[in-house]
Amino acid sequence: MLNKQLITAGLKSLGVKKGDVLLVHSSLKSFGKVAGGADTVINALLEAAGKTGTVCMPTNTVSLIGVNPPFHPLRSTSKVGVITEYFRFKKGVKRGIHPTHAVCALGPKADYVLKDHKPTDSPCGRKSAFKKFIDLDATVLFLGCGLNPNTTNHVAEDWLGLSYIASRKGIAALVDLKNNVKKVTFPNEPGGHRDFYVPESKINRILMNSGKIKEIKIGEATVLMIKIRDIMQVVLNALKDNPAVLLCDMPDCTFCYESKQSVLKDRERINTKIDSLIRELNLK
Ligand SMILES: [Zn+2]
Repeated sequence: MLNKQLITAGLKSLGVKKGDVLLVHSSLKSFGKVAGGADTVINALLEAAGKTGTVCMPTNTVSLIGVNPPFHPLRSTSKVGVITEYFRFKKGVKRGIHPTHAVCALGPKADYVLKDHKPTDSPCGRKSAFKKFIDLDATVLFLGCGLNPNTTNHVAEDWLGLSYIASRKGIAALVDLKNNVKKVTFPNEPGGHRDFYVPESKINRILMNSGKIKEIKIGEATVLMIKIRDIMQVVLNALKDNPAVLLCDMPDCTFCYESKQSVLKDRERINTKIDSLIRELNLK
């Protein structure tokens, strides 16, 4: 059975260091049996990053009207796994206030990571925690979940203004400080289907073959580690080769089919934008 020491040792041998900013995607059940469950995995992450490190997790609620109840930063359950749900109750953890894509963070950089993201901002845009993760060159960990939950793909789509995300407005609800339910709208809602939600997707194969991912087995879980700037570099270059690389090729997927037609028409503008983003972020 796995315990905190074994998980910490695994993370350290993978290359997690004290002081790291960690962005963690996870699947608890992938580990097999863990003594103490989700809390043990969280404690191992905190120990590996140390007191100078900052551990962050998406705790998305997707509180779109008609989809999920209004967002309340303290009460709304995370929809992205047991570990994230336990994490948000950990002492000292701070949570963002975005009604679809709230991030939780613990450590000295937590305030910096969360400070600018308002409910009316794009979920993965330049005001979001992801901009800060790129500034801080966060280490992204995938604990047994593979690359399917790789939100950073949406960051690239958002910042490039790809038509299939830029055309979508989110309408969400949240509970304000006076306990009133408030409607908010925001741009670039990253709904619809994507190729990378399923294993063996084009972008996941490209990332796995990029030479940028480190991999280790901890218990039964395959744990992957990559720098967020490396994800951006690989994804932006892949989008330059194929602007529809994040969309699926299933014949019955109308969303991806229509989105593909639209990005292929916009290819010239997208490529110019990719070049300028690569220069701005100083990626190769
Ligand atoms: Zn699709």
